[in-house]
Amino acid sequence: MRPDLLSLTRAGLCCPAGDFFIDPLRPVARALITHGHSDHARAGHGQVLATRETLAIMALRLGPEFAGSTQAVAYGETLRLGAIEVSFHPAGHVLGSAQIRIAGAGIVVVASGDYKREADPTCAAFEPLACDVFITEATFGLPVFRHARAGAEIEKLLASQRLFPERAHLVGAYALGKAQRLIALLRAAGYDRPIYLHGAIEKPTALYAAEGIELGDLRSAAASDRAKLAGEIVICPPGALQDLWSRKFPDPVACFASGWMRVRARARQRGIELPLVISDHADWDGLTETVKETGCRKLLVTHGEAEALVHWARGEGLEAEPLHLLGYGDEEADAAPVAEAEA
Ligand SMILES: [Zn+2]
Ligand SMILES: [Zn+2]
Repeated sequence: MRPDLLSLTRAGLCCPAGDFFIDPLRPVARALITHGHSDHARAGHGQVLATRETLAIMALRLGPEFAGSTQAVAYGETLRLGAIEVSFHPAGHVLGSAQIRIAGAGIVVVASGDYKREADPTCAAFEPLACDVFITEATFGLPVFRHARAGAEIEKLLASQRLFPERAHLVGAYALGKAQRLIALLRAAGYDRPIYLHGAIEKPTALYAAEGIELGDLRSAAASDRAKLAGEIVICPPGALQDLWSRKFPDPVACFASGWMRVRARARQRGIELPLVISDHADWDGLTETVKETGCRKLLVTHGEAEALVHWARGEGLEAEPLHLLGYGDEEADAAPVAEAEA
């Protein structure tokens, strides 16, 4: 990778002129964090700069001592770090998620973290930014990935809930972001019954509610008689669907909300009766349209289906390189986030 303000180190993307790292994979003196998912937001940095919401998520997940010091940065606020101007802009991925724009020496680089383009009632909408170099993920970076509209998937869930009043609908959803988006989408679709939460979903959901996201009447599944939850919707981490925990519900319908549910074999493998293609990552059209919108001359792909997106970008006349950054995972595929979410 050529200078362009950032260099690739063992700790991840580094900006020497500003003396900081973006979403570093190991402890560093100063980290700029795009969002609160565990593969991007790690403990042990000297100083962390992030949005106020991301800092709150990190404190919840990692404990209040997760960094030596923290600085909250508002969307659109410009900071000066060394010779570099830095600002955070909405990425539309989860609450507080940000793209990080860095400018210096006449070059603008945008590191987008994880992002999506579809509207999400639980976070600020992705803001397209003009730049010279755009750094993107490519979790769903293959032309076969075209996510359905989330609203249409929610209608499927509600149709099934009406059709099977004697069964409980258990919806597997990643505990931070996806679960709260599902609840908000159900509310937007007019569903006003109580929604039941697995223990691992409760704390992140309380954080969203405290941030003013309207989620309606929520109940603890642990505090309820599970055998009596026929006709109800219960949100749980994907891993809990296969647990003994799920068997106490009346004839449960196993549902899973993830972009990977586009792949039938994945749904079958996991015994999912009702797959819901709801993703917090951009699909192929979202990725390629975003790259075009930035007007960038160079594209760097951090992780995911990097080769396909790089190939596409070169065809569009851009300079493009995969960075092969190991260590960024994919929360949508995660089968066992239970332990982490409860920690
Ligand atoms: Zn993420
Ligand atoms: Zn990620």
